[in-house]
Amino acid sequence: EQEIRRLAYWDTLTGLPNRAQFHGALLAQLASRKPLSVLMLDLDRFKHVNDVLGHAFGDRLLRQIAARLRSGGLAEHDLVARLGGDEFAVMLPGADADTAIDTARRLRTLLEQPLTLDDHTIDVSAGIGIAAHPAHGSEADTLLVRAEMAMYAAKSQPAHETGVMLYSAAIDSSSEASLSLLTELRAAVAQDQLRLYLQPKIAMATGAVVGAEALVRWQHPLRGMIPPMQFIPFAEQTGFIRELTGWMIERCSMRYAELQRRGIDLKFAINLSTRDLLDQHLPAKMERLFARGGVQPQALCLEITESAIMDDPERALQTLQRLHAMGLRLSIDDFGTGYSSLAYLKRLPLHELKIDRSFVMGMETDRADLKIVRSTIDLAHNLGLTVCAEGVENAQTWALLKALHCDEAQGYLMGKPMPETDFAGWLLDWHAPQARLRTEFAPFI
Ligand code: C2E
Ligand code: MG
Ligand code: MG
Repeated sequence: EQEIRRLAYWDTLTGLPNRAQFHGALLAQLASRKPLSVLMLDLDRFKHVNDVLGHAFGDRLLRQIAARLRSGGLAEHDLVARLGGDEFAVMLPGADADTAIDTARRLRTLLEQPLTLDDHTIDVSAGIGIAAHPAHGSEADTLLVRAEMAMYAAKSQPAHETGVMLYSAAIDSSSEASLSLLTELRAAVAQDQLRLYLQPKIAMATGAVVGAEALVRWQHPLRGMIPPMQFIPFAEQTGFIRELTGWMIERCSMRYAELQRRGIDLKFAINLSTRDLLDQHLPAKMERLFARGGVQPQALCLEITESAIMDDPERALQTLQRLHAMGLRLSIDDFGTGYSSLAYLKRLPLHELKIDRSFVMGMETDRADLKIVRSTIDLAHNLGLTVCAEGVENAQTWALLKALHCDEAQGYLMGKPMPETDFAGWLLDWHAPQARLRTEFAPFI
């Protein structure tokens, strides 16, 4: 009987309580009606470790992680369990959300100490999601599901973020708040509340405006102008992004045609998300658009982030190859902020690389940023790609980029994103920046 209980409630690999025991303990604790928090933790890249170093190695790694979590400065009554695979959970009786966030950060720091097994040093990291009782629910299953959602959100944050996320209705596509946001977004398209903003892209050698990046805004009837970062991630999670992308492409082709009639020839750059790349129908939708006349494939550039490709590289690659074959230009956006950049660069049918604005904005004052920008330009040119620098905010940065032979630039110095109807007027006043490079930069050119 003891053996049966052991198998039923304990994880044989790590000796930690298993999911069933954790669930039971959570139910018991909730019955006391006192506050508590649940942390859910999932290792990053564990599958990769398993694939490369073997399952036996993966098992030993999990045991080490379990030992770390158990010794992790948790209180006597806190409970650590292995839920399965590389997923762990911690119950913190008495902890409110703030305390739970502190604990989660501490656990993450603890896990980040490199771990040596045989001759391998492994950098461990994990995404941690948190759900608190009573704030996020008073039932065990609700708390577990919500902690898990928060965990996935934590893992999809950019790498430089903290990797810890507290549950909120905004990350939960099944919550009421999210459902109403989705309803509102649908209405936004139906009632014409989305706006196309355009930001000029300049050829540095000639100073000519050669294109514009299309950026969406939401003119909300009550909340005013909403920037994309407040609804794009949500639209991506819910799949609504496909409709949004469809709207953008339509809108861009109309504006393109209108500018052509006035004799203005510009390329339009449109941002695509992961979901767009996984949408098998996207190339066909594009075909239909081109068949109707108006915009032609050569006039469109699609900006894709590295993370969008990494979610499902094989499928993304297929879509990109089809789009490439149709004659569309493809660009890697926010270059330098994602993973595996170099491995994929050579396989993708790309035309352009956009250096992330965080490097460009820093290059005048930070020598490391300057070197990164310089090397990235060289790398791109060696691979036969053109380079666009985004986030050019001052004349010295412009001069630097020009001296480094950057092909195109985009930024507040030349023009902020503006309503599509203002663009033609803005063009009339356009003068390329004039700036002499300061002598201190000579050694870096
Ligand atoms: P992104 O594609 O990297 O777009 C460039 C962002 O940098 C824009 O922010 C732009 O306003 C900003 N920016 C440009 N120059 C400067 C500068 O000199 N200084 C500073 N501080 N910022 C500059 P925005 O419009 O808020 O867009 C943010 C992100 O939202 C975009 O990043 C893109 O990832 C996403 N996004 C915008 N519109 C769409 C869309 O229609 N579809 C999709 N999928 N994503 C979109
Ligand atoms: Mg972009
Ligand atoms: Mg960008």
